[in-house]
Amino acid sequence: MPKGHHYGRTQARAYTSEYHRIHANVLKPLLTKPLGSYSLNAKQLSNEHRKLTLEETKNSIRYVTFTINDKSHQIGLILDNQSASNKLYITCPYCQKQRQSLYAVKNSYSCRQCNGLQYASQSERPQERLMRCIRKLRKELWGYDWPEVNNMFEQVA
Ligand SMILES: [Zn+2]
Repeated sequence: MPKGHHYGRTQARAYTSEYHRIHANVLKPLLTKPLGSYSLNAKQLSNEHRKLTLEETKNSIRYVTFTINDKSHQIGLILDNQSASNKLYITCPYCQKQRQSLYAVKNSYSCRQCNGLQYASQSERPQERLMRCIRKLRKELWGYDWPEVNNMFEQVA
């Protein structure tokens, strides 16, 4: 697909790059800090998206609370002790699933799935996606130097 060529309807969709993304690693230092109030050091975020309170459940699971537009949004800090790297996951306030990153959306934080965000490649028309898929398969079968590999009118046989 030529660069800049988009199916018209997709223009109005929100792309992930338009939202500020918070990676779980950003919150990792909070696992060892004293409970209390903190502020994220990110100028792109609104005041309310920056201020957080660090708390802990009875089971010693830490979570942060953001108060945005008078509503609280809780994000759990879940450490994966099974992996050698001790990877940290943060929970989405909407679906509670463990995510590696969340996006700052208008009045909250949310994961990509809950926000309905689309990656650019997912906004192609279904036919375009299908054609790209066929081309990819053809390349795998025929090799990249096959002259008609990108011609969708060539019969496969
Ligand atoms: Zn979610």
